[in-house]
Amino acid sequence: MLEKIIVMFTGLLSQFAPAQEQYPKNYFRSPIDTSIVLAGNFAELRPNHFHMGIDIKTNNHEGMPVHAAADGYVSRVKFSSFGYGKVLYVTHPNGYVSVYGHLSSFNDSIGVYMKTRQYASKTVELELFPKPNELPVKKGEVIAYSGNTGNSGGPHIHFEIREEKTEKATNPLLWGFEVKDNKKPQVTRVKIYPADENARVNGKNEALELQVNQGKQGFTTSAKEPVLVSGPIYFGLQAFDTETYGGGKNGVYSIELWVNKKLIYHHEMDKIGFDEMRTINSFIELPEYQKTGKLIQRSYVEPNNRLQIYKFVSNRGVINFNTDSTYKVEYILKDIEGNTTTVKFPVKSVPTDASTKTSDSTGCSSFFSYDKKNSYHTSDFMIDMPENVLYNNICFIYSSSLTNTKGYYSNLHHVHAATLPVNDFFTISIKSKPVPDSLKKHLFIAKIHPGGRKEYIGGEWHDDLLTAKTKEFGDYAICADTVAPVIIPVNINPGKKIGAQKSIELKITDNLSGLAHYEAYLDGNWILMDYEYKQNKLFYIIDRSKQYNPFNKQDEKHLFKLQATDKAGNTRVYKTTLVL
Ligand SMILES: [Zn+2]
Repeated sequence: MLEKIIVMFTGLLSQFAPAQEQYPKNYFRSPIDTSIVLAGNFAELRPNHFHMGIDIKTNNHEGMPVHAAADGYVSRVKFSSFGYGKVLYVTHPNGYVSVYGHLSSFNDSIGVYMKTRQYASKTVELELFPKPNELPVKKGEVIAYSGNTGNSGGPHIHFEIREEKTEKATNPLLWGFEVKDNKKPQVTRVKIYPADENARVNGKNEALELQVNQGKQGFTTSAKEPVLVSGPIYFGLQAFDTETYGGGKNGVYSIELWVNKKLIYHHEMDKIGFDEMRTINSFIELPEYQKTGKLIQRSYVEPNNRLQIYKFVSNRGVINFNTDSTYKVEYILKDIEGNTTTVKFPVKSVPTDASTKTSDSTGCSSFFSYDKKNSYHTSDFMIDMPENVLYNNICFIYSSSLTNTKGYYSNLHHVHAATLPVNDFFTISIKSKPVPDSLKKHLFIAKIHPGGRKEYIGGEWHDDLLTAKTKEFGDYAICADTVAPVIIPVNINPGKKIGAQKSIELKITDNLSGLAHYEAYLDGNWILMDYEYKQNKLFYIIDRSKQYNPFNKQDEKHLFKLQATDKAGNTRVYKTTLVL
């Protein structure tokens, strides 16, 4: 019997990720000289993605020296207004790549390498892949300075360790970085979900949320009586972890679910692929997050959820309650240091009452299978979806409504529900109302959010159809942007003497589609002007060095010109004369 159980057990385990990988503990050094305090940890739950590294605090300051974690070479360097901002990738001989994001600047040799190529190509937002012999680095060498560039909510260093071949991000804390942690994970809520239309939670086919409190006996729920469950049920919880210092609500490393001492579910946040990152939307309860901002982690694995964090999952996390008895449900949460929290609560199983079964009467526009290509076409709308874009099979529901509102150039198309997660891009095409050719180039497909906010998606014309790619269900229509970006000078004005000034700064905003491209010139010479989207700011650090001085010597007056174009093709030119 015991033998049989072991065989079954290993059989199930083989579908899941192997046991925690052992990494050498001293191969990488910390990218900073002071002790590491985390502002965020690996696999923390973020909008539309798991966090793929650790966020290291820099005392709320920029300019902290950033050291190479080990010998290697700079294999990628990127200058971007969004995402990781200014970022460096260092490839190491052990098959891993360390990543340093949101930097303010690079060291001299990397800085010169980048700047030369930016000026040569007249491109600010550049991504380069240096060869192994071009920018070698030594362990501990200062390669950059910390900052707050790109999509960053305050000064910090984003640090990752990726597998070079697979591009999967590993949990950096498995590599032996010292982060003091004597605090246990905290649980604030558990939630009990019916897995299909026949399941009941306290008599209803609805999920039930329970507050979790810490008492003398440890963590338990606020429910006075055991919750009644029948049919297929799964569980979820809201939890976070904190380290000794930092005080942030970070992610929990390991979560196990046991029912009557039987393991149902176990994940560990060891490694996540960039193609798996968006599966967060299946991992959490997306509708709840969209409605209330609560991140409930479900101990439930949808059929096409390909995350490799699962160590063990029985029946995708679904338990069939069909007896007449009480079950002990137990969640065990651990941080990476092994600090452990247990939440215990009972549920009372009641046998399924056949008469309560509801039939699935919802009318589908089409049935979409996650493992097949799916499409649905009408006379003025098309959706085309590659295989493996959905996490589960769905009854696809579509409708459209007429729009007489100003600013809409098509019907409003209701494409399933914005609450249903989608893993990757699919294509939608919308037929436009008759419009003059001069307007056509300013039209685009917009996602229409509740309340009417229009979000630019894109669009390519095929006759009178506009086609774009999106990763979200929801409402879509064709809209127009005919207003060019607005440029407001901050520290210059016509005829201003700028001889003592360090920089030239302007504010730039766009009403709808957003900034697509800009270029700036002094006396006709291209200048490297940086864009900080969080402040809508464009700035040029005046460079009077021999190589990059943009001012023509023979002129007394100097012409500054900035040209900016939005995503709908509207261009604004700002020109002014400056004096040195
Ligand atoms: Zn980060």
